[in-house]
Amino acid sequence: MKRSISLWVLTLCGALLLAPATPVAAEEPVSFDVASLPMPAVQDKARFMASMEPLPLHDKKMLPLRYERFQALKNNKDLWRDKESQAFLLTSREEFVLPQNLKRTYDHAFLDIGYGVTISGPHLVMRMTSALDVQPEDRVLEVGTGSGYQSAILAHLSNHVYTVEIIEPLHQRTRELYTKLIDKGYGEYVNVHLKSGDGYYGWEEMGPFNKIIVTCAIDHIPPPLLKQLAPNGVMVIPVGPPGKQTLLEVRKEVNTDGKTTITRKDVYNGRKSVSFVPFTKKEGGGTWSGKGLQ
Ligand code: SAH
Repeated sequence: MKRSISLWVLTLCGALLLAPATPVAAEEPVSFDVASLPMPAVQDKARFMASMEPLPLHDKKMLPLRYERFQALKNNKDLWRDKESQAFLLTSREEFVLPQNLKRTYDHAFLDIGYGVTISGPHLVMRMTSALDVQPEDRVLEVGTGSGYQSAILAHLSNHVYTVEIIEPLHQRTRELYTKLIDKGYGEYVNVHLKSGDGYYGWEEMGPFNKIIVTCAIDHIPPPLLKQLAPNGVMVIPVGPPGKQTLLEVRKEVNTDGKTTITRKDVYNGRKSVSFVPFTKKEGGGTWSGKGLQ
């Protein structure tokens, strides 16, 4: 009896040793499921404030301003669906602006974020986000991380956000900010993956992307970005001369016979132009211009 038990133990140990090793960690980094995010109350300010009570990370002094901006965005049709309202109401824009601009966090304005670049106003950030109609399993690429605010909004809509910034120290600063915010308890920001580099080339290893958002201005659509756009993917990009670009919604449609068609549409239907900081090359290389669709 004793012998058969030890044999059994030996067999079990052998089986364990021979068993395939625990599966290698999935290539995809850990993500936070956006489906688990709460929906704040939107009917009025008092109910919004009450619904944010269980989320102590959010600064109580800023919440009324955030709610007022939300109402203005709603009236201006910058928020198209509940999920974009939710993303706006759950993102602490105050964490992404410079201390000297704190009071202006929720103004209808772009703000300086250092290094000669700016964070877009809430209306533009949310209009571009709405045009993308981001789904939880979409792979999303942003070109121009800047302050990290736009990617923070996206982190509430997709479990897979990738963002590239060309100014190395700005990339470092925003990376550190995200680490700090995750440590504080904003779990959703593990969905944001940052890279320092020239976003003209996209982020090939992580593509293809279902959605691409470009937050710097260029005179054509970079061919590498079109290539990294998945079939039936959407890209939002400001295209045009300095100070006056058209905000384009670009769609890549692949027919059943495998033929690819690119369609372009002005997000603002000709009603207004936008002005973004230039799409630059690496140090001293000037701005990108030239070949490609306009
Ligand atoms: N989305 C940002 C907006 C920043 S402004 C935010 O939410 O704050 C545009 C950013 O694009 C700047 O930080 C600028 O440095 C960056 N940029 C310009 N050219 C770039 C390029 N070739 N690749 C990546 N980022 C670029």
